Amino acid sequence: MGNMVGKQEIYDVIIVGAGTAGLSAAVYAARASKKVLVLEETSYGGQIIYSPEVENYPGIVHVSGFQFATGLYEQAVGAGAEIRFEKASGIQILTEKECKTVLTNSDTYKAKSIIIATGSRSRRMGLDGEERLTGAGISYCATCDGAFFKGRTVAVFGGGNTALEEAVYLSGLCSKVYIIHRRNTFRAEQRLVEQLQQKNNIEYLMNCRVTAINGSEKLESLELSDGRLIEAAALFVAIGREPQNEIYKDILALDEYGYIIAGEDCRTSAEGIFAAGDCRTKQVRQLVTAASDGAVAALAAIV
Ligand code: NDP
Repeated sequence: MGNMVGKQEIYDVIIVGAGTAGLSAAVYAARASKKVLVLEETSYGGQIIYSPEVENYPGIVHVSGFQFATGLYEQAVGAGAEIRFEKASGIQILTEKECKTVLTNSDTYKAKSIIIATGSRSRRMGLDGEERLTGAGISYCATCDGAFFKGRTVAVFGGGNTALEEAVYLSGLCSKVYIIHRRNTFRAEQRLVEQLQQKNNIEYLMNCRVTAINGSEKLESLELSDGRLIEAAALFVAIGREPQNEIYKDILALDEYGYIIAGEDCRTSAEGIFAAGDCRTKQVRQLVTAASDGAVAALAAIV
């Protein structure tokens, strides 16, 4: 039995988020025989489960994102971490007991240290009807939803690696794919630009943005900043990612974009609270850096 507050046991570490960073932290902390709780709002795995193929994780030649995430989940549970599917809604720091409380939508949990590993989510366009039409033509994941639009005309918004990978994928499924990008050159790697150029059902709409989406029950058309109106059954939005750290803004320092300010040691502005993976300020947001942060944060959190 660990320490108790009243009748409630205190975890050594609570990890918020069961993506690559959070589960890697859980593996390290649990293997060190610490009492570990992982809280996850939706399902384990985080962003990587949407990648059909991972080919850049050192030592693994080829694996699907889902297989990778499942292996990590099983490794964390096998090492003794407890995982609960509850949405964290805040953190309180109870200084007199030297412990912290994590509030969820259904309970409260106490720990000596906390690791926040909540990743990021797809950036929204901020347009009227965007939320209402999500799942009815607006999507943030072509590999998840592309098959619903087989043989139809669809659009992709964005010019980074995600947008071009999605456009390449959709060109094999859909009759026509518009790619809409705010500049006249792509941010994506040259190899993806070349793959896209080999497709014959892509129409490039450069130097413009989506300014309105039309449709009552489902998406029907898009309005662009250059005044054009195009008909499309789906719009795949791939304009980057953003963190969701608003609930921590009163206890942790965030940067101007909402990322938790933390260095390579994953230490935040609050003693005993660490930030790992894409939710923190960092230069490189990759699978391997998320896993690395998990290890660094766990080893710092359990001393
Ligand atoms: P990125 O930030 O790389 O690209 C976002 C794209 O959306 C950019 O072209 C950007 O335009 C555009 N954009 C951003 N904000 C807006 C806005 N408000 N309105 C209109 N357009 C906007 O995001 P990704 O999701 O593509 O990639 C995220 C990270 O993941 C990157 O590091 C990427 O390299 C990596 N990644 C790697 C892959 C791989 O290695 N196979 C696959 C997918 C992602 P602009 O170019 O003008 O700034």
